Amino acid sequence: MAGLSLRHIYKEYVGKTKSKKGSANHRSGDFLAVKDFNLEIEDGEFIVFVGPSGCGKSTTLRMIAGLEEITGGELYIDGKLVNDVSAKDRDIAMVFQSYALYPHLNAYDNISFGLKMRKIAVEKKDENGNPVLEIDKKRVKELKAKVKELTKDAQNSEGDEKASIEQRLAVMLKDLDYYSSTPVQAYTYRHMTKEEIAEKVNWAADILGIQDLLYTKPSEMSGGQRQRIALGRAMVRGPKVFLLDEPLSNLDAKLRTTMRSEIVKLHNKLKTTFIYVTHDQIEAMTMGTRIVVMKDGVVQQTDTPTDLFDYPENKFVAGFIGTPQMNFFDVTVAKVGDELVVKFADGQTLYYPVSAFPRFEESYLDGAERAVVLGVRGENVYFDEGGIAVTLTVKEVLGNTTQLFVKFENDEKDYIICAAGRNTYEQNDVLKIKFEAEKMYFFDKETEKTLLKKPTRSSK
Ligand code: ATP
Repeated sequence: MAGLSLRHIYKEYVGKTKSKKGSANHRSGDFLAVKDFNLEIEDGEFIVFVGPSGCGKSTTLRMIAGLEEITGGELYIDGKLVNDVSAKDRDIAMVFQSYALYPHLNAYDNISFGLKMRKIAVEKKDENGNPVLEIDKKRVKELKAKVKELTKDAQNSEGDEKASIEQRLAVMLKDLDYYSSTPVQAYTYRHMTKEEIAEKVNWAADILGIQDLLYTKPSEMSGGQRQRIALGRAMVRGPKVFLLDEPLSNLDAKLRTTMRSEIVKLHNKLKTTFIYVTHDQIEAMTMGTRIVVMKDGVVQQTDTPTDLFDYPENKFVAGFIGTPQMNFFDVTVAKVGDELVVKFADGQTLYYPVSAFPRFEESYLDGAERAVVLGVRGENVYFDEGGIAVTLTVKEVLGNTTQLFVKFENDEKDYIICAAGRNTYEQNDVLKIKFEAEKMYFFDKETEKTLLKKPTRSSK
């Protein structure tokens, strides 16, 4: 189990030329896939990275795993700087979308494969049973190589990048000094016994409910069963952190829902830190204790599921979280007396008491007419004869709710209303609608940032 700290993490893909930012062969076309990613993850949290394809979530996960070099910034696991620690020494297990099981091995052998390969460390003791202390020559050699590499990198870099490398170098030099001069507990290494392996496999199989699959080959299993085997393989390693990259993408919708709750239950049982990548906001909302929403390599907001939904910090998050997507209207707002006048593009207006918006940015309530973006979710629209007129274009009856697509005159854009139960409206009917004031969101037209202040204490 471990907490993680990601501080000012950057990832730059430099194509074929291996170059450093600021060095002579740095190409201007190089691509920044992750920009200034900051996150403190507490031990045992279930963190979800969510965002559209290409936003940098897998890259971030792969940097945590040690499968991708970190271009800038520091990554700490359990308080230890690990930028220069290899993937195999990070105590992390990763589960991918493709289960990557060996097809010729049964589930038992797939789960235990890594354990059979791995050697475990056993403390060296002398004939009296006392610990044997020695200089760890292997570690000293590795540290020397790393120091050499970082010294060269520091010489070839400048600015923030140089400062970051020098910080890592200082940690390395301190470690090198310590391990070169201090005898530490010596270890011998041995393979695990068959019994030890069986104990671990059975422990994982019990938790995952796959005892009766242990002697089955992957080709005879469903997608969900294969994914459980892949989870089992990760579990037996006893990692400090589980990284899951779109692990349910290959499953059909029903199985995804089942596996979703199984992974949450697994997290509850293991109480280990989970970091889960998905582009599916429903998966993010139902699984994460906290969610990191990303776009174009930049973190948009990190929050609990309910706070993301209730207090989106910008238009992107508001539109990304929640199904169906939030409606966005180009409007002007103006405070006239005690009323807020909301005027739509076609000139129709709605009037609300200003007191209905206690969190509204005061500078927008100075009497002037200001162009903003109004966001309203479909379920917060209601019918009212005093409301604005829209025309029904499509009606979708979903059973317990009905989705009504409507448009304004001379505007082709569709907006959605989610009405409870059934109704008798038909295509081309003119509907009069209003919005629940406490569920109306306002965004700056240019920056797209919210114009509503977040309450100091929010509901979780
Ligand atoms: P998806 O859900 O599609 O996997 P993602 O959010 O996980 O998307 P990443 O895989 O992290 O996105 O990729 C982020 C950006 O970095 C993308 O624009 C991608 O094309 C680019 N990228 C990823 N890997 C490399 C690479 N090895 N070399 C160059 N560019 C890369």
